[in-house]
Amino acid sequence: MDFRKAAVRIAVALVALAVGAKVQAQSFETIAPDLHLLRGAFAPGQQPDGNTVMLRGRRGWIVIDSGRHEAHTQAILRHASASGVPISDIVNTHWHLDHVSGNALLRRAYPDVEVHASRAIVAAMDGFLANYRRQLATLAERHPASPEMPNWVAEMARIDHGVLLHPTVPIVENARRRLAGRDLDIRLSTDAATDGDVWVYDLASRTLIAGDLVTLPVPFLDTACPSGWRRVLEELDDQPFTRLVPGHGAVMDRKGFRRYRAAFGRLLECAGRGHRSAAQCADAWVRDLGDLLQTDEQARARELLDYYINARLRGPGASAECDQPGRR
Ligand SMILES: [Zn+2]
Repeated sequence: MDFRKAAVRIAVALVALAVGAKVQAQSFETIAPDLHLLRGAFAPGQQPDGNTVMLRGRRGWIVIDSGRHEAHTQAILRHASASGVPISDIVNTHWHLDHVSGNALLRRAYPDVEVHASRAIVAAMDGFLANYRRQLATLAERHPASPEMPNWVAEMARIDHGVLLHPTVPIVENARRRLAGRDLDIRLSTDAATDGDVWVYDLASRTLIAGDLVTLPVPFLDTACPSGWRRVLEELDDQPFTRLVPGHGAVMDRKGFRRYRAAFGRLLECAGRGHRSAAQCADAWVRDLGDLLQTDEQARARELLDYYINARLRGPGASAECDQPGRR
């Protein structure tokens, strides 16, 4: 896979996603006892933050994903500090910058925190992220007066955190772990949205925290192996959850997730059939999701799917990334 092209794609897709989107307040909502959600913001002209889930255990907070922008991570720190309970563990669902960048700030505030994540970020730092950084540096050099400059500089600074974003406790297999005194099933999938997707099932609350294996308004296919991703959605469905927290978007119940999963399968089938246009497949996606998608998200969903179907599901690189660890 051509890292440079991939980096352009992710940058383009994420910027497209962000432009014109709503600003959301940075505040936590309680979705179950001792389980709080901070929705990732999509501010106009900014790249998004992933959702953050904070689970309270007997010995501290477990933070699942730490956000991209400092304001998001500061909200996490305030939430912990107001409770008087320290952050003991971070779990990163995958290495994208909207989910890991806040690790640096959290580790500065809590130097003993353990970071549980796939090792895929180590290869991404030398591959995808290194190339993305070079692209940003070139843009900054060529367009010094661009209004985008602060965003480019901030993205480069996030990548420059380097090993601060790496795991201290790598996740290399599926396992039940007790973190902060709380029992979690932690699973690793290596061929889905990225080559190292971690998902977490919290036994006490029957909540599945899916990271970017489930995202609205569309699946973000920039670094994905679509067929592997579809298989992982079946595994998710086998878990006994009653609510699912996606990487972006609102909490779903099982019925909502089933609808998402079915729509995902139909999207791949539609894209695989040559006689349906990208617009027809996007229309079907919007129809299949129904009220999982708010009316004001439908236009963006169509726009993103037009791009993903042509560039990722039908492009020359379609599925070429599957089974090649470290290359996405
Ligand atoms: Zn994300």
